[in-house]
Amino acid sequence: SDFASLTLTPSLLATLQELNYQQMTPIQQQSLPAILAGKDVIAQAQTGSGKTAAFALGMLTKLNVKRFRIQGLVLCPTRELAEQVAKELRTLGRSIHNIKVLTLCGGVPARHQILSLEHGAHILVGTPGRVLDHLQQQRLDLTELSMLVLDEADRMLDMGFLDDVATIAAATPAGRQTLLFSATYPTGIEQLAARLLQHPQRVSV
Ligand code: AMP
Repeated sequence: SDFASLTLTPSLLATLQELNYQQMTPIQQQSLPAILAGKDVIAQAQTGSGKTAAFALGMLTKLNVKRFRIQGLVLCPTRELAEQVAKELRTLGRSIHNIKVLTLCGGVPARHQILSLEHGAHILVGTPGRVLDHLQQQRLDLTELSMLVLDEADRMLDMGFLDDVATIAAATPAGRQTLLFSATYPTGIEQLAARLLQHPQRVSV
């Protein structure tokens, strides 16, 4: 249950220690080995379970910071969640020099986002509508994406984001790693997982 049992870099382990993350939470224990092994994962997890750190540590481990291209994308149902996820990625990734995490959410003017995209990023966190908007305006290149995360996927379906999520995923490499986190399992989630994940490992806490 100790993070040191995982294949994390010494600098990520040092950051976890500084943050006083001593033991993995159950969702981290069950999902991180598979995530770090590059597998697709469907995880049933609620807010407060430590799910964000589970996928964030996987994404930060996989990232090649020297390659200034979008390598990770986290889709979230709301701006509030996206901001929290970006904050956790920046906190956990603070030992990675020059890492750039960008949020792309609706409800705010696109102008600043457009400028930020022109400057480039390694990781994007956003809501499906706004991410799709930038994609369709050809401001986003997702062809080097290596990890796609669907966070609170059931809420994204409830909000009618299914088609947007599928269109965004179709603009990313088929060989990407895909992680799906959801608090509940309506049939729509199974259908989405069947479309976007390959031989997923299932985890529930
Ligand atoms: P989440 O479920 O991702 O919203 O995380 C809930 C809270 O738990 C966040 O404030 C995290 O910073 C914190 N957290 C996540 N993993 C750990 C851990 N292994 N040890 C202590 N705190 C953690």
